[in-house]
Amino acid sequence: MNTVINPEYWKESIVYEVYLRSFQDSNGDGIGDIPGVISRLDYLKELGVDVVWISPVHPSPNADYSYDIKDFYSIDPVFGTLDDLKQLIHEVHKRDMKMIMDMIINHTSDEHPWFLESRSSVDSPYRDYYFWRDPAPDGGPPSNWISYLGESMWEYDETTKQYYLHSYHKKEPDLNWENPRVRQEMKDIMHHWLKLGIDGYQIDAVNSISKDTRFPNTDDTERRQANAEQYFKEGPRVHEYLHELYEDVFAHYSIFTAGEPSGIGTDEAALYTHPDRQELDMVLMMEASKIDTVTNDLWQYQPWTLQDLKKIMGDWNRNLYGKGWIGVYLSSHDHARLVSYLGDADKYHKESAKLLAMFLMTMQGTPYIYQGDEIGMTNAQHLRTIDDFTEQQAKIYYRQRVEEHGDDEQEIMQRIYTKSRDHARTPVQWEDGPNGGFSTGEPWMPVNPNTREINVRQQQDDPDSILNFYREIIRIRKQHKTLVYGNYEDILPEDEQIYAYTRAGKEDRWLIVLNFSSSPADFRLPDADSLANAELMLHTHPDRGADPSAILSGKQVQLQPYEALLFSQKHSSK
Ligand code: CA
Repeated sequence: MNTVINPEYWKESIVYEVYLRSFQDSNGDGIGDIPGVISRLDYLKELGVDVVWISPVHPSPNADYSYDIKDFYSIDPVFGTLDDLKQLIHEVHKRDMKMIMDMIINHTSDEHPWFLESRSSVDSPYRDYYFWRDPAPDGGPPSNWISYLGESMWEYDETTKQYYLHSYHKKEPDLNWENPRVRQEMKDIMHHWLKLGIDGYQIDAVNSISKDTRFPNTDDTERRQANAEQYFKEGPRVHEYLHELYEDVFAHYSIFTAGEPSGIGTDEAALYTHPDRQELDMVLMMEASKIDTVTNDLWQYQPWTLQDLKKIMGDWNRNLYGKGWIGVYLSSHDHARLVSYLGDADKYHKESAKLLAMFLMTMQGTPYIYQGDEIGMTNAQHLRTIDDFTEQQAKIYYRQRVEEHGDDEQEIMQRIYTKSRDHARTPVQWEDGPNGGFSTGEPWMPVNPNTREINVRQQQDDPDSILNFYREIIRIRKQHKTLVYGNYEDILPEDEQIYAYTRAGKEDRWLIVLNFSSSPADFRLPDADSLANAELMLHTHPDRGADPSAILSGKQVQLQPYEALLFSQKHSSK
């Protein structure tokens, strides 16, 4: 029954996502940059970060802020120079950390030379780098597919009177992976940067690269978004392509690879990451981050319950055990803030941010920290009107719903306030000073005014801070491999407030008790006898919370809102 999990450094690592534009500006132009990252590496090291994941650094027209790339071989001057990047790699390695880069393989910018060539003529040698199709008989798009931005996935191009495919923004045409020349181009790009010494890749939209090239119409027209996913997710050749990348690129370096596949389950994750299959090392588990999202409209908020979260995490912890590996990815540059959607940023900010840290660090999978979550950065309070938002998806949604469909503006804006990814893109709050210490100039996104209360400098030396709690729970995870590899068991599956689970390994067993609610909760440990000699390792409420000895003796105790406890039990004395 027990499956062996091979130890790997990337399973034991803490990954930290740097969203470059918003991390640290070094030259006062209001945009984060590579020298800014270098200046904060000591901070990341002290936090306990092992792997720095840096968002795309290449030139981009910024229809999708650097995820629409127009030259994969150079560095966007706004972020720095090639020498800066080399320096960053050097400084990361000097601190015994690793650095991975984003690899965007599904699409390019429409300003990439390949696409400029491709659109110029049906006879262009680059024509087949992208998907071009004739109009439907009525002159409309070749199929009824809807992009992630809520518009047709087909854009008409006057020059050659054909449509091209784009899963995302119309300035991000999808690459045609059927074409071996495209695959070779992408391999060449990866070799180029791997030879420079980076330690791996975070691969964007990895499960979208193989499409059903018949492009059939979908019947699933009720869903506003992604209604054709059955034809372009987990496509017929996706595993063949990834195995080819493994053989021709990944296998030649000592690196690790992680993929970002939206909307997959544990069976698919095993196909991508089982070591025998030689594709990717891990995929990001994104299901939990969609817990408050209505399936057919990512802007609609859906209240979530703890049962939902237990079901999701339980499935991933159990079903993938020994078969594959995930990155535990609860927040990102594409998502509202962690403490705002899974915690209580208003009433129990510090408590819930700490609980979420313990939750993240005690799950099976490699923990991913998104920048600023380690100090409990919250959704932005200062984005008010649609003009304050920068993300295209929100603007298109607003236009469609309010201007074209006549929906209630307040209702739509409420959805955007709740869900916008712009919340994650306000600059990191380093201090209570001008622009939060992010920049000496005017930041490209205004700094959240709560930088007065929530900032790195204030939390650095406060032993009770969220930041120091992160440092401590990370330190504990690194010292105790059972928290990485141990078997997961939910010991209180029915409880609607308390999430209590164990992680068991050869040497020790861990008990994690989380009051995942804004109310006090009564707790009695089932099977307390088996944990009688456990030891309290970390507690969110050390001065006013539950009595650990009472818990371990099986008495009923009351947990404070968002109180979290971590116990460890050695199996035998040495
Ligand atoms: Ca800058």
